[in-house]
Amino acid sequence: MTARMDWERAAQLLAAAQNIIVLTHIDPDGDAFGSMLGLAAALRDMGRRVITAVDGGIDPAFRFLPGADAVQDQLNGQNADLVIVTDCSDERRIGEVGKAGRALGVPVINLDHHRTNTHFGDAVLVDASTVAASEGVLDWLDVLGAHIGPATAQCLLTGIVTDTLCFRTSNVTERALGKAQRLMQAGGNLGEIVARTVNRTPAPVFMLWKAVMPRVRLEDHIIWAAISQSDFRQAGIHDEDDGHFVSLLMQVDQAYVACVLTEVERGVDISIRSVPGFDVSAVALALGGGGHTQAAGATLDGLTLAEAEAQVIPLLRDAVRAGSPQIR
Ligand code: AMP
Ligand code: MN
Ligand code: MN
Repeated sequence: MTARMDWERAAQLLAAAQNIIVLTHIDPDGDAFGSMLGLAAALRDMGRRVITAVDGGIDPAFRFLPGADAVQDQLNGQNADLVIVTDCSDERRIGEVGKAGRALGVPVINLDHHRTNTHFGDAVLVDASTVAASEGVLDWLDVLGAHIGPATAQCLLTGIVTDTLCFRTSNVTERALGKAQRLMQAGGNLGEIVARTVNRTPAPVFMLWKAVMPRVRLEDHIIWAAISQSDFRQAGIHDEDDGHFVSLLMQVDQAYVACVLTEVERGVDISIRSVPGFDVSAVALALGGGGHTQAAGATLDGLTLAEAEAQVIPLLRDAVRAGSPQIR
C-alpha cells in the first residue's frame, strides 16, 4: 500500500503553530467531519486555538459530534499559522474555505487516506492502508504521544465507522479494529454512532430510493442508476443527498461494479463502488476525480445525465473486463 508519512516535518510545523485552521473536503461525509473535529479536539487539548470550517458548514446528521457547533461555513478573514486538511485527495476539493486558507500563505499539512491523493501541501501524512482519515489522525496523535480524550475518540470512531459502513468494507484491517476498540475505551460510543449514521435513513431519502429503484439497470455485472434534480425535488430533498444509494446497489450478488449518476448544478456527480478484484479508482481518476480501489467518484462538468452515462458505462465495462472477483 502506498504511504508517505512526513512525521518529522509535520511535528515541526505543529510545534511552531499556536493558531490552527483544520479543513476537510467539500460534500463532507462522516470521516470528513470525524477526522476534522477529532483532530481539532486533540489540538485544543494540546493548548492550541483551532478553527474548523467546510463549505456549507455542519451537516445536521453530524451535529451529535463534539465541536460540531463551532464548524464555520467560511473563514471570515481569520488568521492562523498552520492549515491542516483531512480526508481530502486534492486541493480543489477543499472548496472555497480552502482557497481562503491557502491565501493566508501559511504551511499546509495534508492528512489523508485516498490512494489518489496528489500529495499537495508542505507535509504529507497519507496512508492508503488506513480505512479512514480518522484512523490516520489517531496514528499521528500516537506518533506525537498525544492524549486521546472522549471528544476526540467519539469523532474519530465516527469516521472509522462511517467510512467502513460499520466494518463491512473489504479494506478493514485488524489494526483498524484494534484502534476502534481503543477509541471505545477512550470514550467513543459505538452504539450511538451506529444508531445515528449507518443504521439511519431519512424518510425522504428512502422515498427517493423507491422512486429510482424501477430504473436501476443490471447488465454484464454492472449495476447503475441515474438520479435527476426532479427526483430529488419530488422526494423533498434539497441537498442532493441520496443516502449512499450506490452502497445499496453494490449488495446485489451479480454486480461487480455499481454506479450512481446524480444530476447537480455543475453537471453530473458519479459515485462508484466495486467488489474486491475490480479497481474503480482508475476509472474515477480518468474522469478527473479520485478515490479508493473499491469506492471512488468524480464530477463531470457541463454534461447531462445521458451524456455522462454514455461516457461512464463503457469505462466501467473495461474495469469489469480487467478484473475478476476475489470472492465468489
Ligand atoms: P462517494 O461515492 O461520494 O462516497 O465517494 C467515494 C470516494 O470517492 C470517496 O473517497 C471520495 O473522496 C472520492 N470522490 C468522490 N467524488 C470525488 C470527486 N469529485 N473527486 C475526487 N474524489 C472523489
Ligand atoms: Mn470523506
Ligand atoms: Mn475518508
